[in-house]
Amino acid sequence: MFKVTEELVKDLIEKRRYLHRNPELAFEEINTSAHLKKWLEENEITILPFDIKTGVIAEVKGEHAGPTIAIRSDIDALPVKEETDVPFQSETEGKMHACGHDFHMVSILGAAILLNEQKNQLHGTVRFIFQPAEEVAQGAKYLVEQGVLEGVRGIFGMHNKPDLPVGTIGVKSEGLMASVDKFEITFKGIGGHAGIPHNAIDPIVIASQYVTNVQSIIARRIDLFHNAVISITSINGGNTWNVIPDQVKLQGTVRTFQPEARQAIPEFMQNLAETTAKGNGGEVDFEWESYLPVVNNASQYEQTVREAAVEAGYQAVDAVPSSGGEDFAYYQNYIPGFFVWMGVDGPKEWHHPEFDLQEDAIEVAAAFFATLAVKVLKNE
Ligand SMILES: [Zn+2]
Ligand SMILES: [Zn+2]
Repeated sequence: MFKVTEELVKDLIEKRRYLHRNPELAFEEINTSAHLKKWLEENEITILPFDIKTGVIAEVKGEHAGPTIAIRSDIDALPVKEETDVPFQSETEGKMHACGHDFHMVSILGAAILLNEQKNQLHGTVRFIFQPAEEVAQGAKYLVEQGVLEGVRGIFGMHNKPDLPVGTIGVKSEGLMASVDKFEITFKGIGGHAGIPHNAIDPIVIASQYVTNVQSIIARRIDLFHNAVISITSINGGNTWNVIPDQVKLQGTVRTFQPEARQAIPEFMQNLAETTAKGNGGEVDFEWESYLPVVNNASQYEQTVREAAVEAGYQAVDAVPSSGGEDFAYYQNYIPGFFVWMGVDGPKEWHHPEFDLQEDAIEVAAAFFATLAVKVLKNE
């Protein structure tokens, strides 16, 4: 059981307010990283010598031998103009910690301080990953390429959740946040006179058939117990009333919670695009960009996560998934991980200019992650 002293709480709140006043965007987190490093060093926590532009990797080695696990916090802010009335508003016009990553940083710093003070409880090592550039979905990938997961057995993280009260932790195995993929489909026909369509191949007709039929993939090809959305968000082709254009371009996104659905959908979509084009005498270019995987929580950790919440003095509740994306998912491509919602009782959703949170959630999160690390390492 970890006791977060009043003094530590006060200190973490002060640090959070400093970070809030000084937000930095993705891959520009120079000052943020320097402060994290300084605060970790002041607490005699080891910084690992990774050669990274921004972000900090630290480690607390327990007194007992054992494996290594990681706890991750993101560190970047957003290009949002702050409209809260807190006394520690952003001092950089047009930049704001509107996703609460300032809260994540000091909470995980708090967990590191608690664990460093009680190394005798640790059967192994805890690596703290302060990750840049979450908002552009590139930071996790960058750090994995730098080798931060080497030797790490499992990874844990959180996102603050404004619609959950402070003291509650949202827990769910498997899909918690949706995968995000992008596509661009160009149907190519033969342009011509609008009055003589038999001499043309009309890509507008081909694209129209596709837009309607593509939804049958969700209805007929995806398992009833899986969920996915295909949204076509842009159609471009033609520029006047009496000419058949030679191509039409579609853009859109696919969101799902199951890796199986995510893997199957692009092939179904591409097949349908090819047969629709071919059946009408046209051709197609199909481009797919894998953007973010599903935040896919390893069920092997669920029980421990729930117990840690209760042991730390708080409540575990069933998490409601979000169709937003989160690049924590990227780590889970390599090692098992578990991501939770941390209740912060805020007035607005993520990315809103009036986004805010209750600072008493800092001690909840710090105590929870310290407790979780001890429990996970005991079980590994
Ligand atoms: Zn965000
Ligand atoms: Zn965020």
